[in-house]
Amino acid sequence: MEEIRPGVWVVYGENRGRFPFAHSLYLKGEQRVLIDTGAGRGLQQLVGKVDRVYLSHYHRDHLAGNSLFAGVPFSVHPLDEPGIASEEGFYRLTGLKGMGQQYWDTLGHKGFSATCAAERHGEGDRIDLGGLTLQVIHAPGHTPGHCVFLVEECELLFTVDIDLSPFGPWYGNESSDLVQFTESVQRLRSMKAGLVVTSHGRPVVEDIDGKLERYGAVIEERHELIYGLLRQRAMTLEQLIDLKPIYRRHPEPVPVYRFFEGMMVKKHLAVLQSRKAVECTGEEQLYQAR
Ligand SMILES: [Zn+2]
Ligand SMILES: [Zn+2]
Repeated sequence: MEEIRPGVWVVYGENRGRFPFAHSLYLKGEQRVLIDTGAGRGLQQLVGKVDRVYLSHYHRDHLAGNSLFAGVPFSVHPLDEPGIASEEGFYRLTGLKGMGQQYWDTLGHKGFSATCAAERHGEGDRIDLGGLTLQVIHAPGHTPGHCVFLVEECELLFTVDIDLSPFGPWYGNESSDLVQFTESVQRLRSMKAGLVVTSHGRPVVEDIDGKLERYGAVIEERHELIYGLLRQRAMTLEQLIDLKPIYRRHPEPVPVYRFFEGMMVKKHLAVLQSRKAVECTGEEQLYQAR
């Protein structure tokens, strides 16, 4: 791990923090706090040195190491709590309905293991760690309870899965919300952070606002891409998914990625319909540009 600012460490996830791993943030004031447990091996050294664990959201790549910190109080946003408390809640929030269970197992997550988070955090919480102050910012869209964290003393913003990746925003769960995602990116831009740490990439110090802007703009580009496809010909949702406008290719397990693609495309279609740019007609549910 790297002490990126005094008292603040990034615990880099295995495989450079790529899914199914994610970087964690460790803060050491008088109180010692860990945000997320998906970094893999790097977390071993923190066992016994954590007073509280904050989970940024319910995705498994962020909480795979929860069992290492058994006995430590866990905190989660109430809207994401069902996704960690039970397998039924996880499948309800994702919409996966049991799909991909074998896949999760092969990722080393060994099936669903419930976490009992006794504590809750949310928008506006300011946590005094003694020497460091942690602010919770509710930034939904990726998941309903997705939170990011500001370390006030060093203007460090841990943006979690607003991850500035070239892929762009991800909102492939039933409970994800593309409009909220856009609003959350705008909100982070207004915060003028001096250092951004994300869950899956390298820390960012330069051109933070430009990078957030380009990342957020991907959503509008996808709207235009899907609209452009529907201008060429009317299509059903399944036909649109076949064209893979979001992912371009679907790795194994294909049904899971096809599901994510469909979820994201559906959210774009809903916005395009609300803008009266696209309509859905007929019994065969054909989408067409107006
Ligand atoms: Zn996530
Ligand atoms: Zn993630």
